[in-house]
Amino acid sequence: MSTFLNIIQEKCPKCHQGQVFTKKGNIFLFQLPKMHTNCSHCNYKFEKEPGYFFGSMFVSYALLVAEMVIFFLIAHQFIDSFLTIVGLIALLAIVWSTFNFRLSRMIWIYMLDGQKRQL
Ligand SMILES: [Zn+2]
Repeated sequence: MSTFLNIIQEKCPKCHQGQVFTKKGNIFLFQLPKMHTNCSHCNYKFEKEPGYFFGSMFVSYALLVAEMVIFFLIAHQFIDSFLTIVGLIALLAIVWSTFNFRLSRMIWIYMLDGQKRQL
């Protein structure tokens, strides 16, 4: 449960104190989220190598598909027009893009570096 909260609160995977993102981004102002290069608390380097976050695109894709399916199942109960639902889903994808960007990177960081096993 604490890992889930750390992902949602965008905390460092190593010390769980420092913030990963400096700016959350705002799609309406065309601002993308911005990450710290190192943790402000423990100096942990977030991007280990160039292209480290390439895999988070797949996480982002899976997140978006899940959100679209859930939204479709809910909206289908109230809205009859299929085109309206598709339009709303497209709008949802745009509005949630910065949230998905941050969440997918956080899931990716925690998948790879979250809890190191002590041998
Ligand atoms: Zn840290």
